[in-house]
This record gives sequence, C-alpha cells and structure tokens, in this order.
Amino acid sequence: MDKTFSLTNAAVMGNQLALAWSDGEENYYTFEALRRACPCANCQGEPDALGRVVRPNPTLGPKAFDLISWETVGGYALQFRWGDGHSTGLYSYQYLRNLGD
Ligand SMILES: [Zn+2]
Repeated sequence: MDKTFSLTNAAVMGNQLALAWSDGEENYYTFEALRRACPCANCQGEPDALGRVVRPNPTLGPKAFDLISWETVGGYALQFRWGDGHSTGLYSYQYLRNLGD
C-alpha cells in the first residue's frame, strides 16, 4: 500500500533532526542513528560476485555525527552533509519513514 506524503519541515533540535510530513507524521532521528543508517554503498556495502553483502565497518570519528547541512533531492529524498565531509548517501523519504517507525 503506497501512501503519498512529502516532507513539510526539517529542523535540528539539539542533536536530533526532526522531520514533519504532509500526512501529519513526525519523526525524530539522532544524528548518530542517521549517519549509521547512511544508505550509500560505502556505508552499507554492495553485493560481491556471489551475492554476499560484505558490510564495511567504516571507522566513524566524532565529526562523522555532526550534521552540517542537508538538501532535498528531486522531491523524494534528503542528502545530508556530515562533519567529516561525507555526503554521498541519499535518504529517500520512504527510507526515512521506515527508519523513524
Ligand atoms: Zn554513506
């Protein structure tokens, strides 16, 4: 079942990001949880030739959990920039909603 929703507001509160959605839901994420959930291939790994996903275990320093900025991408995702310069993860709204539940 597809629900259609869009992001109506994003705000930093302390060390959390608060997202408000057009259907009235709100989700809160700590920066650390957000960064650890980064969906990019560097962070989550890619299947190898045998289809096994080797999960990298990147070492994340304290700066990795500083949320510097974010922007919306294509009306369906957020891209975060982190204190260590990492910014390749595209967090789709659906992914963020699942994370927040
Ligand atoms: Zn990443």
